[in-house]
Amino acid sequence: MSNPSILILAGDGIGPEVMDEVKKIITWYGDKRGLAFDVTEDLVGGAAYDAHGVPLTDETMAKAQEVDAVMLGAVGGPKYDVLDFSVKPERGLLRLRKEMDLFANLRPAQCFDALADFSSLKKDLVAGLDIMIVRELTSGVYFGQPRGIFEENGERVGLNTQRYTESEIARVARSAFELAKRRDNRVTSVEKANVMESGILWREVVTAIRDAEYPEIELSHMYADNCAMQLVRRPKQFDVILTDNLFGDILSDCAAMLTGSLGMLPSASLGAPMANGRPKAMYEPVHGSAPDIAGQGKANPIACILSFAMALRYSFDQGDEATRLEKAVEKVLADGVRTADLMGPEGGTPVSTTEMGAKILAA
Ligand code: ATP
Ligand code: MG
Repeated sequence: MSNPSILILAGDGIGPEVMDEVKKIITWYGDKRGLAFDVTEDLVGGAAYDAHGVPLTDETMAKAQEVDAVMLGAVGGPKYDVLDFSVKPERGLLRLRKEMDLFANLRPAQCFDALADFSSLKKDLVAGLDIMIVRELTSGVYFGQPRGIFEENGERVGLNTQRYTESEIARVARSAFELAKRRDNRVTSVEKANVMESGILWREVVTAIRDAEYPEIELSHMYADNCAMQLVRRPKQFDVILTDNLFGDILSDCAAMLTGSLGMLPSASLGAPMANGRPKAMYEPVHGSAPDIAGQGKANPIACILSFAMALRYSFDQGDEATRLEKAVEKVLADGVRTADLMGPEGGTPVSTTEMGAKILAA
């Protein structure tokens, strides 16, 4: 059997800096845990544009389709703002998501105890928080037709269409239920069935899949506006939240900020199972290329490292090794090690990107 394969697309800005720390961890797994990966690296975003004139070449796209998992850093930067829309760095990322058909976007919002102490109010609210938001990523109002700005009765009308097919709802619902099986067997499905037809269908299909295939899962339904309120009021009531593209966009940012810095937040985007049974998958930190701190060795590599932990869990069936890596992050934070973005008002001396990576590896 050949080793599991990873394509690394470090990208732009702080992408390569944080990905360097992940590369060291991947090497460590081969050397110390007998878990070797076949790693190839390639360009995406502005880096690919500089080399090839496009933000993602067909060759790189083909490689991404073949590997077990793609690890992506970040794309974009002010240097590329002037480019035509069709070759902007972000288009490389969108092409990967679209052609790999990554329909389930997983964003955990997890609060590490060591970072819960910003204020007592916040501590009660978020200490121990561990939510997983599953956002549908390839359909809904972002893609529904018709769309556009039209003339009607002498004025312009802006139109988008919220549209979901049964199969689109069913496949992302299965992703959420599978995830819930590895967690607390609870899913909250979020829509607005009170005012939207797509929401009515969403609720029906999710319920039918649960009844037929996942009777052990406790399923509840919530309107999106209420969910937003509950996330701020009592976030720990949730475990897995399943929702559509638009609501997921908003609710996952909201949940994310309960936990602290952008530099801490990983994500996974999963598609249909491949021939080997593993889902097509891309893992990336939630943050962008952070041009303001790029090249200074200040970036927090934890979001990217935790994204690799998700890869271990969801692409490589190495849940125990994923937990090992997450525990190492937790220990280093508990020891008080902080990159600049994690410094509280009490101050202190921040560590660099490579120092943070080295501490986690040592732990
Ligand atoms: P994008 O459009 O690519 O999503 P953005 O405008 O949302 O980018 P980010 O690049 O995500 O912005 O970063 C926003 C700010 O958060 C940055 O300016 C940076 O100061 C901070 N930041 C983001 N990621 C990190 C990180 N890993 N470590 C430290 N600070 C970070
Ligand atoms: Mg952003």
